[in-house]
Amino acid sequence: MWSQKPGTTWRRWQRYWEALLGLVYPPVCQVCRQEPAGPGRGYVGRRCCQQVRWLRPPWCAKCGLPIPGEATVPFECANCRELALHFRYARAAVAADGVVLEVIHRYKYQEALWFEPFLARLLVRAAAGPVQREGWNAIVPVPLHPVRQRERGFNQAHRLAQWLGRATGLPVESGWLERSKPTSTQTLLSRDERQRNVREAFRVRRGAVVSGRRIILVDDVLTTGATTSACALALRRAGAAEVCVWTVARGL
Ligand SMILES: [Zn+2]
Ligand SMILES: [Zn+2]
Repeated sequence: MWSQKPGTTWRRWQRYWEALLGLVYPPVCQVCRQEPAGPGRGYVGRRCCQQVRWLRPPWCAKCGLPIPGEATVPFECANCRELALHFRYARAAVAADGVVLEVIHRYKYQEALWFEPFLARLLVRAAAGPVQREGWNAIVPVPLHPVRQRERGFNQAHRLAQWLGRATGLPVESGWLERSKPTSTQTLLSRDERQRNVREAFRVRRGAVVSGRRIILVDDVLTTGATTSACALALRRAGAAEVCVWTVARGL
């Protein structure tokens, strides 16, 4: 098993893994197939990387939606004023469009795991600093329902959370939350339907020591915030002091 703290074992593993991948796959960007890119970059070349849109303030203090122009005081978007979101804030590294959206889809639905270092590095670059400065103390990935996880073979949120755990030294607590209801796919639902669909879908496992903890929820993409808000609600009900959300990408 990979150690959760940054360490030599992990780095050695990573080097072996990269060498192995390098033998199997040609070092070519797997998005455009027209530029060099190796396993260390997650097979995404420099040109494709330059198309990534990093999210920067000013943004909604709650959901992290970037707002045009300048803001001198903390601001909440219309969406967040209407909804009761149960996390303190949600932030994402980049916009879920173009290269990023394509990579996330292929990573999740076509098991293109070689893209993982690319996605993980976006998350770590944006989240590691703030997470450490603000004194959060545990990382919890958004769980998949066991049936969905068996179909997919892995939980992308868990894998990405482990990268953030290694970068920050924070424990990754994948056993704290479980998905008790196999929610249907969210992408075609309206905002209200999504909220109804996920409200009671998560629960904290018996024995999880959540009380008083300041928890970072991790997922690949944030869309309406309904899923992560439902997770945050379950954690808060179990006594978590505070919950924030970090995702690789965000729908705009
Ligand atoms: Zn490329
Ligand atoms: Zn908002």
